[in-house]
Amino acid sequence: MQWLKEKGNLDDFFEKVRTADSRVLITDYDGTLAPFVYDRNRAKPYPGVQDVLERINSQNNSRVVIVTGRTIEDQRRIMALRSNTEVWGTHGWERFSPDGSHRVWPIGEGYSEGLEEAIAWATREELLERIETKPATVALHWRSAAGEEKERIKEITEKTFTRIAEESGLLLHRFDGGLELRTPGRDKGNAVKIILEELGEGNHAFAYLGDDATDEDAFAALEGSDALRVLVRTELRETGADLWLRPPREMIRFLERWAEATNSTTE
Ligand SMILES: [Mg+2]
Repeated sequence: MQWLKEKGNLDDFFEKVRTADSRVLITDYDGTLAPFVYDRNRAKPYPGVQDVLERINSQNNSRVVIVTGRTIEDQRRIMALRSNTEVWGTHGWERFSPDGSHRVWPIGEGYSEGLEEAIAWATREELLERIETKPATVALHWRSAAGEEKERIKEITEKTFTRIAEESGLLLHRFDGGLELRTPGRDKGNAVKIILEELGEGNHAFAYLGDDATDEDAFAALEGSDALRVLVRTELRETGADLWLRPPREMIRFLERWAEATNSTTE
C-alpha cells in the first residue's frame, strides 16, 4: 500500500465511511477484482471478493457499482450477479440499475455505419466467429489463431480497421490478442460523473477502484471531489489515483474494512 498524492490515512477514510449518510463503492472488474486469465470467459473474482461485495451492497445506505469494459450481460453472467447490483457496461455506454432498467446511450449514425462495415467485412472474410460486438464497439480477436494464419488475420484486420477508423471517426484500440473499433464520446469518467451528480450534496463516502488506462478517465473525472481514487495493480505506474493497493490481498482487505465499517452502523 502506498499513498500517491498527499499522505492520507485509511483509518480516517473508513471512519468517514462509517459515519456517512450514504456510501458508494465503485469498482472496475478485470485486473481489479479478478486476475487476468487467458480465457476471459473464466475470469472469476479473487476468492472472498464476491461475498464481501454482496455484504456491502446489502447494507443500509451502501451500494456497490461495477464499471466495466465488458457488456452488462457478460458482466452479470461472469459474476452471477444478483439483480440489485448496479453495473455500467461497455465503458459507460450502458447502465443496468437496481430497479432492473437497462439504458443504452445512442451512438451517431456515422459510427454505427463504421461498426456495421467492420462486421460485414469480417463476414466476407469468414472471420465472423472472431468478432465480438458490444453496444458501441466491434472487436476482432486473433489470439486463438496460430502461426501464419494468425499473422494473416492480424495484418488484414489492422489494414481494414485502420481504414474504417479513418473514414468513420471511430477510435482504434489495440489490446492483447486483437483490435477494437470504439465509438468516441463516452468513457468510465461519464459514468462516475453521473453517479456523483445523482448523489447531490451531502455527507457521502465515495471510492473508485481500477487498474488500467480506462480507469484513469474515472480518476480524472473525480479530481477535485472528495472521492478516494485507488489504483489496484501489481506494479505502480503513472496514475491520477490517490492510493495504490496490490491485488489481491490489499484490495480484499480494503473491501473487508469497508464492510466492517458499514456493518457497525446498522447494528
Ligand atoms: Mg480493469
